Amino acid sequence: MEEQMREVVDRARVEFKAGRLRTYDQRRYYLLQIDRFLKEQEAAIIAAQRADLRKTHMEVMLTEVATCRAEISAYLKKLKSWMKPEHVSKSIVFLGESTYIQRQPYGVVLIIAPWNYPFYLLLVPLIGAIAAGNCVVIKPSEVSVESEKLVREQLHNYLPEECFPVVCGGPRKTTELLKQRFDYIFFTGSTFVGQIVMKAAAEHLTPVTLELSGKCPTFVDASSDMQCVANRIVANKSLNIGQACISYDYIMCTKETQERLVKAMKTSVEEFFENDMQNSASWGRVINARHFDRIYGMLENSKGQVAIDGGVDKSDLFMGLTVLTDVKENDSTMKDEIFGPLLVIMPVSGLQEAIDFINSKEKPLAAYVHARDNAVIREFEENTSSGALLSNDSAMNMSVPDLPFGGVGRSGMGAYHGKLTFETFSHRRAVMHRKQALEGVNKKLRYPPYTAQKTRRLMAALFTTEDTPHYGLYIGVGLVLVGALVAIGVTLGVTLY
Ligand code: NAD
Repeated sequence: MEEQMREVVDRARVEFKAGRLRTYDQRRYYLLQIDRFLKEQEAAIIAAQRADLRKTHMEVMLTEVATCRAEISAYLKKLKSWMKPEHVSKSIVFLGESTYIQRQPYGVVLIIAPWNYPFYLLLVPLIGAIAAGNCVVIKPSEVSVESEKLVREQLHNYLPEECFPVVCGGPRKTTELLKQRFDYIFFTGSTFVGQIVMKAAAEHLTPVTLELSGKCPTFVDASSDMQCVANRIVANKSLNIGQACISYDYIMCTKETQERLVKAMKTSVEEFFENDMQNSASWGRVINARHFDRIYGMLENSKGQVAIDGGVDKSDLFMGLTVLTDVKENDSTMKDEIFGPLLVIMPVSGLQEAIDFINSKEKPLAAYVHARDNAVIREFEENTSSGALLSNDSAMNMSVPDLPFGGVGRSGMGAYHGKLTFETFSHRRAVMHRKQALEGVNKKLRYPPYTAQKTRRLMAALFTTEDTPHYGLYIGVGLVLVGALVAIGVTLGVTLY
C-alpha cells in the first residue's frame, strides 16, 4: 500500500512541476469546477448528508453548499490581486529597487477532513490550496460513508485526478499516506489524531495546520435574558445535534441561573421541536453506533441530574437533547469533548470561578459568554484565551470570512477562512531585486575594509531608531530637492534662451 501511496503523491508532484496550477486562469478554472460540482451535485450532497447524519436540507445548504460557493465567489473576485507581489516599505538606500513578497505555492499538499461537515471541511481548504497554486491529495473521512462515496465517485468528473487524487480509507491507509513527503498538511479532526499527523509531518519537516478539538465552555450571567440564551443554546445544539467542534460543551452559571436557564430551555425545546425530537425534521442523528455508545456511556456514568430528557433509540441512532444539571468537575461528561446532543451545567459561584476553571483547562477552540452586563463580557474576554470568543451567540463568527478560524494550544495551530486560507497554502517568499550599479556608494558604505565610519554610515542609512537620525532619508529628500531645482533651472534656462 505504501508503494501505491507513493505513486499517488509522485504523480501529483509531476503535475505540480509541469505548472498545472501556475497561472491565475488555471486556478480560476479549477475553482469554477468546484463550483460546478457543488451546483450539479447539490441534490446528491443533500441526500448523502441525510443518509449519513439525517441533516436537514437547510443545514446542508447553509453549512456545506452555500458557504463553499460563497467562498469560491469571494476568491474569484479577489484572487488576481492576492496573487500580485506585495510591495513592502524599505530604506532610502534601496530607492529605485524592488522589494516585495511573492506568494508561492508549497507544491503537493495533503488535506485530511473529518466526518461532521464532510464537504465544507474538505472543500474550503481545497479552495484555498488551489487558489494558492498547489496540487492536493484529498483525504475525506471514511466515517461519513455516503459523503465519502460521493466525493470519490464524482469529484473527478470536475477536477483532474492526477492533480487532485482522492484517497479513501481509514487509519491504516492514512498512516501509509502520512509516510509520504508532502509540502504542507492541513488536518481537521481530533487532537489525538492531530498529534499523529504532526509526528508524521516532523519526519519530513512538513509544515502543518491542525484544526483540532476541545471542550467549548460557556458562562451564563444572571443579567441575561434567559429565554434568548436558551434559544441560542438549543438552536446551536440542534446543528448536527451537537456533533460540531464549536458546539456548546458545558455551561457554567450560578445555581439560581441554572434553574432559570433549564426552565427557559424546556420552553425552547417545546417550541422548536414540539417535544418530539425523534419525529422532528429538524433533528439529526448520531453518526454511528460507536459514537452513540461513546456519548451514551458518558450519560450513563454521569452523576449529574437529568433536567431535560431527550430520550434515546439506538436502533434509529436517535439521541434527543439531554441536559444534565449540578454536574461536578470530575464527572464522566467533563473529561473529553462531548461532541453530541448532551449538554451539561456545572454550577459555579460566579464569573471569577468560571474564568479560573477555564484557565485551569486546555485552551478551547471557542469560549462563550452570555450576559447583558458589558462589564461581564469584558472581564471574560480579557481573562480567558481560546481560538474564538463569542458573546451572546455561537457559530455566527463562521459567516464572517475575515475572522480567522482556528484553535490555540491543544485546540489547534494555524487558522483559515477567507484570504487566510490562501495565505495558509502560500509560502511568502522575500524578493529583492538590485541593480549592478552604485559601486562607489557601496565601497563607502559596506565593502571591506570595515571601519567605524562605515559602520556609522551604514547604520544611519539602514536603520531608524529613536536616537539614530535617519540620514538616509535626509540624503534622499535632499537629492530629490536638488534634482527638482536643477530641473526647474534647466527648464527656465531653456525657455529664456
Ligand atoms: P478523527 O481525528 O478521528 O479523524 C479525522 C481524519 O483523520 C479522518 O479522515 C480519519 O480517517 C483520519 N484518521 C483517523 N484516525 C487516524 C489515524 N490513527 N491515523 C491517521 N489518520 C487517522 O476525527 P473525526 O472523528 O473524523 O472528527 C471529529 C473530531 O474532529 C472532533 O474531535 C472534532 O472536535 C474535530 N473537529 C475539529 C474541527 C475544527 O475545525 N477544529 C472541525 C470539525 C471537527
